[in-house]
This record gives sequence, structure tokens and C-alpha cells, in this order.
Amino acid sequence: PQERVGLIGIGSMGWPMAARLAQAGFAVTVFDAVPGQAAKFAQEVGGQAAATCAELAAQSDIIFTMLPTSAIVEQVLNGEQGVLAGLRPGGVVVDMSSGVPAHTQRLAQAVATAGGVMVDAPVSGGVPRARTGELAIMYGGPAATLERVRPALSCMGTTITPVGEVGSAHAMKALNNLVSAGGFLIGVEAMLIGQQFGLDPNVIVDVLNASTGMNNSTQKKFKQFVLSRQFNSGFGLDLMVKDLGIALGIATDTGTPTPFAALCRELWASAGKTLGKGQDHTAVARLSEQLAGV
Ligand code: NAD
Repeated sequence: PQERVGLIGIGSMGWPMAARLAQAGFAVTVFDAVPGQAAKFAQEVGGQAAATCAELAAQSDIIFTMLPTSAIVEQVLNGEQGVLAGLRPGGVVVDMSSGVPAHTQRLAQAVATAGGVMVDAPVSGGVPRARTGELAIMYGGPAATLERVRPALSCMGTTITPVGEVGSAHAMKALNNLVSAGGFLIGVEAMLIGQQFGLDPNVIVDVLNASTGMNNSTQKKFKQFVLSRQFNSGFGLDLMVKDLGIALGIATDTGTPTPFAALCRELWASAGKTLGKGQDHTAVARLSEQLAGV
């Protein structure tokens, strides 16, 4: 590949995504706020570790960000020694984090003023599909920029769906996670009702998966992370609560009444408060269990 790429935020998702790029032969530069993390990546996987985001930007034609929140993306772009301090003319910033659409649109204007282009390309599929390069990628931005970044995105995902202008992919991602969070929680409640009635939870999951109640949580999450008591999917509870806040924010901005979504967000947020920091999102089941007294 001709384009030199950089990836900022080599955490649960960013590490395997950057690894896919390196394995495909891209010249990859990485940066992370955790000291030593980028050097560890360079040593274990390959590529180069940058000392600052500005240095990474100066060495990259395309800069990917995979960071917790839009506020952090802003810091990484506009902060001292940030991406904008080193951006090359025509440089492309691809925010693959799950972010706030309006915030992303403001940042895209700042990047344009600095002579670059910013697009959003958030993902779904979690750590397992990041490892295998099978993420579902949503894309917001100009069609010409998509063609420029497509070879790199194709290393990370199997579907790339353009959904509109910059920021629109972040809206789409939040809506996906709203549906995912709702499906998870209603499934947990169904399992609790069933258990109190006397049904075997493993049988409940099997029957849901053979029936119309099936969803991604019944298929991929309940046995592996909840019934096993492992709670280790690699996607944090705080990040899911953030995504639900984004979805409800869009509902408010657009004047869309969504009482079911509002209750869903409230329950996930209260699990976040009750269970504390550092929890996996699948641990939300513990809150439902506490309420049910099991
Ligand atoms: P993570 O917390 O594991 O990784 C984030 C990384 O960003 C960390 O390594 C952290 O040190 C780094 N970071 C934080 N602040 C920084 C800064 N100022 N400068 C440089 N690096 C900084 O999070 P994750 O699970 O990899 O999620 C990343 C994004 O992807 C989030 O927006 C999340 O909502 C989204 N997402 C996660 C999953 C998942 O399954 N984990 C799936 C889809 C989307």
C-alpha cells in the first residue's frame, strides 16, 4: 500500500485494528496516552511508535482515531502537540471511535481549516471481529475520501456502508448500540423471569436462539459472558452508557419522543453508577439480578 497510516488509541479495539493494517503491509505509526503502549505495539506487532500525535500526523497520510469519546478526539486533534499541529496538506482523519455527531461535524470544520479532511467510520462487531478484520464499518463523509481510505478500511472490516455526510455514521452507530443495549437488557430480564418460574437459563437461551426472540445478545453474549459469570466481552459499560447518551441526545435534538429508549438508557446508566468504574458492559446483568433478588 502507498498511503502511510497512523492509529491513535491502541486499546481493546485499536490494537487489533492497527495490527490488521500492519499485517496487510501498511506502514503504521501508533500513539497512545498510556506510556509504553505504542512502543509495546511496535515491538510485538511492528510499525513505529510516535512520541506525540503531531509527530504521528506528520508521518501519516491517513490518521485513524479509536478513542473513548469525542471530547478525547478533540483533545487529540486540537491539543498541544495534537494532530492538527502536524497534519500534512490533504491529510485525512478517520474517526473510528463511537462519537457525538454534532461534535464530529465541528471537528471536521477545524480539520478542513487546517487543510485536511475528517470523516467518521465507527465500527460494530467488538474485539473478536476487530481481530479477524470482520468489523461492520459505517462511513460518513465524501465519496471520494471513502475511495481513498477504502483499502485501509477493508483490512479492518468486511462491510463498509456509506450513510451520509460527516457525523452521520456516528449517529448510525449510536442507534445500533441503542438496539443492541435494549436487546441485551430485555433478554436478561426474560432469563430472570424464566429462572424464577423454574426454567433452566441455558435452555432459555437455546430456545430463544431457535425462535423469534433471537438477537446478537442471545447468540453471542448470554452463555459466553453472563451465564459463565466471566463478564469479559472487551466492551466497557461506561462506553455503552456513553453511546446511549448519544442516541438519546439525537432524539432530543430531533424532537423524537422515545420513552422506551429513555428507560433503557436510564437502566444502563444506573448500572454504571451502582457497579462502578472498569466494568464490562455485560455486567449490567448484575443490576437486573440485584433488582430480582437473585
Ligand atoms: P479502550 O478504552 O480499550 O481504548 C481506548 C484507548 O485510547 C486506550 O488505550 C487509551 O489509553 C487511549 N487514550 C485515551 N485517551 C487518549 C489520549 N488523550 N491520547 C491518546 N490515547 C488515548 O476502548 P475501546 O474498547 O478500544 O473503544 C474505543 C472506541 O471504540 C470507543 O469509542 C468505543 O465506544 C468504540 N467501540 C468499542 C467496541 C468494543 O467492543 N470494545 C466496539 C465498537 C466500538
